[in-house]
Amino acid sequence: MSRGVLTCGRAAASALSMLLLAACTADGEPAEVAAGDPGATAPNSGSATARAEPVEPSPPDASPSHASPPVPEPSAPRVVPGDLRVGRAVRAVQHLAGQIGPRHGTSPAYQQAVRWVSRELRALGYDVRRQGFDAPAGVSWGVPVDAGRSANVIATLPGARSTDRHLVVGAHLDTVPQAPGAEDNASGIGVMLAVAAASAERRTRLPVTFVAFGAEEPRGPGDAHHHYGSRAYVASLGPAERRAVAGMVSLDRVGVGSVVPVGSADLDGRDPRQHAVIDAARRARVPVVATYNRSSDHWSFARAGMPGVRLGSTSYAAYHSAQDVASVVRPAQLERVGRLVLAWLR
Ligand SMILES: [Zn+2]
Repeated sequence: MSRGVLTCGRAAASALSMLLLAACTADGEPAEVAAGDPGATAPNSGSATARAEPVEPSPPDASPSHASPPVPEPSAPRVVPGDLRVGRAVRAVQHLAGQIGPRHGTSPAYQQAVRWVSRELRALGYDVRRQGFDAPAGVSWGVPVDAGRSANVIATLPGARSTDRHLVVGAHLDTVPQAPGAEDNASGIGVMLAVAAASAERRTRLPVTFVAFGAEEPRGPGDAHHHYGSRAYVASLGPAERRAVAGMVSLDRVGVGSVVPVGSADLDGRDPRQHAVIDAARRARVPVVATYNRSSDHWSFARAGMPGVRLGSTSYAAYHSAQDVASVVRPAQLERVGRLVLAWLR
């Protein structure tokens, strides 16, 4: 939830310097660069509906054609099974932020979001289960919240076993009480759903567990009052299940800007999991910046000895406010993050 600490200076000294330098400016903020990124050069309209999902080619016109010479077919984008369809992510942002609205982890609106995301994942062919847990009363971003039940939504393809080596892609589904949470974090849920759809169509290098985490947002200061859902998930794993987690990424605020922060929970800049994600970004031609970050659900995994990395956390003016609405989120950035995650999964 909180802003990441950018570490361009350290990153520039690493073996990945060329890649990261391209995405850093002197003040350490991610630069709006388009290097190697076809999406980054497209104008950002400010509307979440501006970038249409690729569509199937229309059927040929059945009208008689003898009167005119043949016209070449327009080159409609070809959608290959397993491609990322960003329209799914955009619709998720519109639904969660526009229809459901603010949804703190123990609110009725949160339960509505749980039912919706469960249906979406089931429709993609996943086995879906809910993992309930208690979240205490507290103060979330200045607003009192009640104690109550929250839930994680966990999705795997049929036949998956939690003790087999697998990857975890997670995103928190809750918001702070005052925000509809388009960027924080309907954007992460949207990209997760788009990646889940693509992963159901074309196989990944390892099976993937998708998790929509509850009650990520803080209810007090420090780690003990934060990331309740991912801590409940991690606490539920036995030793063999923990060893089976080959990698985890948390998608948290992934629809703003044109460079993707790749956050490690390690301070030393030598996190091999972070470097693996940066390598995937290079393959996907997505510009990234290395950051140090412990402010999302990946930290619950990392502090328990599992490999967790965060994608996202670019600063934006509507953060944790009523202005965090769908128009804040850029479809082109959702697409970059989705392509990056798919490259990492494959
Ligand atoms: Zn967040």
